[in-house]
Amino acid sequence: MKNKIPKWLIEMPKAELHCHLGGSMRLDTILDLASNNHVRIPAKNKEELIKQVVFKNKEPKSLQAYLKGIKICESVLRKPEDFQRAAYEICTDAAKENVKVMELRFGPTNYASKKLKLHEIVEGALDGLKKAETKFNMYTGLIICGIKTNMRATKRAVEIAINYQDRGVVGFDLAGKENKHSPKEFKEIFKPIFNNFLPVTIHAGEEDTVESIKEALIHLHAKRIGHGVSLRENPKIIKYMDSVRIGLEVCPTSNIDTGSISDISTHPVRDYFYRGLRVCINTDNRTISDTNLTKEYLLLQNELGFGKPELLSLAKNGFKAAFMNNSDRRKILDEFDKKYGLLLK
Ligand SMILES: [Zn+2]
Repeated sequence: MKNKIPKWLIEMPKAELHCHLGGSMRLDTILDLASNNHVRIPAKNKEELIKQVVFKNKEPKSLQAYLKGIKICESVLRKPEDFQRAAYEICTDAAKENVKVMELRFGPTNYASKKLKLHEIVEGALDGLKKAETKFNMYTGLIICGIKTNMRATKRAVEIAINYQDRGVVGFDLAGKENKHSPKEFKEIFKPIFNNFLPVTIHAGEEDTVESIKEALIHLHAKRIGHGVSLRENPKIIKYMDSVRIGLEVCPTSNIDTGSISDISTHPVRDYFYRGLRVCINTDNRTISDTNLTKEYLLLQNELGFGKPELLSLAKNGFKAAFMNNSDRRKILDEFDKKYGLLLK
């Protein structure tokens, strides 16, 4: 049966490297926090909330329309403990599908106000991740996002990321609508990131041309690229990314929802995988895209012909591309090889 999820796929150890906190909160939690924090959202119950935020089968398919739902989810996060709860619950759900490495990301400046300080937001999320780490025996890390449409906010995000670099922040990202500022315009703002050797991943080539990927690699020293759908336009960059093992965070369902690809059959992930790129599979926004990591792997199996050995390789790539220390990575990879070695491609 096409839609039956094989047990081995649920049990396969996974790394989730591209997952936004705001777009991955449980629906019940969004309603609960809206009520607790007296935030008016355009939904009184779960059914109405699904219509407002879950993107499945919605039109028009664009990043802007997709981000609208995320705004609703984000609006209910008002206290440090809300971030702790959201982060912990996302990890709880991920642990059920054997996610061993969870790198959660968010732009803390989206939530800051007079009443809620940036450091409280970041500490809330880190507390949630730490709690999950102990409870579920998983490795966690927080990626702080700068905002492509807001240079000032990005500058503040850089500062807070550096402050928490030794307390759970593992990387820095640029997210949001792609065509307002190009990655190279952030070069100066990113200087503290480079000087402190905080690894960088950039949303690039999602709705924009391959130029944004090029700039992310050259000017922002990205070690990973988020999405990279337009990468297929430039074989030279593909070759470069292959040779220096730049991670490519592919989020298949999200790419359909935002209209980056017309349908799954046209997704370049298969081509990238066969060219040897370090492709890993991610959800982007679990709630908005009504997905989890297992469903994303299943989509590749059912719609793009990925077999078990290939799915295992993709899972392994996730651990290889993670922003984690290498001895912990080695432990996970050794266990993985022991269990699946003979099946691996
Ligand atoms: Zn994303």
